Amino acid sequence: MMTAEHLYSKYPEVLYAGDLRDVPLGWLDIVDRYFQVVATIMEGTGYEVVTAKEYQGGLDWMWTSPVSAITSECHQVMDREDVLLELRSFHTCRVCGLPGFGWASGRTITTACEEHGVGKLIIARQPLVRRLSDGAVRYDEAADQLVNSEDV
Ligand SMILES: [Zn+2]
Repeated sequence: MMTAEHLYSKYPEVLYAGDLRDVPLGWLDIVDRYFQVVATIMEGTGYEVVTAKEYQGGLDWMWTSPVSAITSECHQVMDREDVLLELRSFHTCRVCGLPGFGWASGRTITTACEEHGVGKLIIARQPLVRRLSDGAVRYDEAADQLVNSEDV
């Protein structure tokens, strides 16, 4: 299984030791896939993770860059990859990385597989929709990618 240490050494340009300390282990693989696309684009821009933690079943991920010269094409790619990472987290077990579902325990919602779920399985979970510059998207689990959403 992927470890934070492995990711720090794999992406030294964009990750600092400690950045991923609050990211559940099961999500490190989707973070890896995010950086497979993002790391080369953001290399040399001073990309810095600001927030990387679990919040109500999803990965709350924010970054900053001091470089104002990022092109708008680059911004579009980044917006899309940020959304893909977040929406993937809602479908990935926080413990083991297998496909996950929503679980409610009191007021806390987590995303986990059948084995690692805590509380009550949320049956009819609404698909999450996010707005990008070129329209609304949702995550298609079977295709493992963002698709256009009519729910605008
Ligand atoms: Zn699991």
